[in-house]
Amino acid sequence: MKAVCIREPNGDLQIENRPRPSPRAGELLIRVRACGICHGDLMVQQGAFPFVQYPIVPGHEIAGSVEEIGSGVTGFKLGDRVGLSVLFSCCQSCPQCKQGAENLCPNWVWTGMMVNGGYAEFVIAKASYVTSLPPQLEYAEAAPLMCAGLTVYSGLKHSGYRKGDRVAVIALGGLGHLGVLYARAMGARVAVLSSTAEKEQEACRLGAELFINLKTGDAVRALQEWDGGANVILATAPNVESVSDTFPGLAADGTTVVLGVGVGRIQIDPVTMVMGRRHISGSPAGSRQELKETIRFAAEHDIRPHIKTFPLSRAAEAFEAVRNKQLPCRVVLVND
Ligand SMILES: [Zn+2]
Ligand SMILES: [Zn+2]
Repeated sequence: MKAVCIREPNGDLQIENRPRPSPRAGELLIRVRACGICHGDLMVQQGAFPFVQYPIVPGHEIAGSVEEIGSGVTGFKLGDRVGLSVLFSCCQSCPQCKQGAENLCPNWVWTGMMVNGGYAEFVIAKASYVTSLPPQLEYAEAAPLMCAGLTVYSGLKHSGYRKGDRVAVIALGGLGHLGVLYARAMGARVAVLSSTAEKEQEACRLGAELFINLKTGDAVRALQEWDGGANVILATAPNVESVSDTFPGLAADGTTVVLGVGVGRIQIDPVTMVMGRRHISGSPAGSRQELKETIRFAAEHDIRPHIKTFPLSRAAEAFEAVRNKQLPCRVVLVND
């Protein structure tokens, strides 16, 4: 099978021919139809995660069909439409796993980082971590929900968000545009903060009522004038400065949820934090239950990620598009 491999930190994306893997007991072989490119994949390429097992086939926004079924697997048949997230497996015995917060498990195994992922024609998955895809979602539309969609859905769910709240989304990229779509579908009023003036139109089209230019505007003042500040800030850019700079734009009791992992330190003035009882938290991907909710919510509310597709053979070019172009959409690799 064709697979795209990164052999070492900072290594190029190389197309390789590999033997097609066979599912063992409890596993499925998935024919990958589409796999989104997450900022996490760029970090794998850059060697930013110490836990990555090189050489590695990246990719953890996987949508495909069941090609082979390992022994002992029930509930799936050949050809079923399925998805796999970054949660390849978890220990199921730690306190977080027992409480359903599997994405906080200290022993979890990450798809496309610790085991080979979806930049390939086929991928192995543990059947109990695979989710079914509803028929109304195309493979290439479903793929970005497996990490970007899940991350914004779970992040909002744990932010203290209540219907009608004001949600400010920092950056309008692959993650941020889904933040706007999910927040709007949950009944939020939405603002978009971006350093790219051209994204204002797109923000309005997605349903934002306010656009704040981070380069030219006074973001804190603009947020505070928005009926007293944002109840939730979803920080989707891998940029710590934007997190620090916008924190005082939170309403009292508001929460900044950091979803994009950037390099550096977040700096918060303790007076601003204490006097407004403002919060800051992080949130990684989501649990299996939350993945099911993410997919169901998208189907029920007709949430369709904006995507740009590239064939798997042009993965390196697609990577550069994610790195440089700041596209207001998710880039997705597709197999013919
Ligand atoms: Zn991801
Ligand atoms: Zn665990």
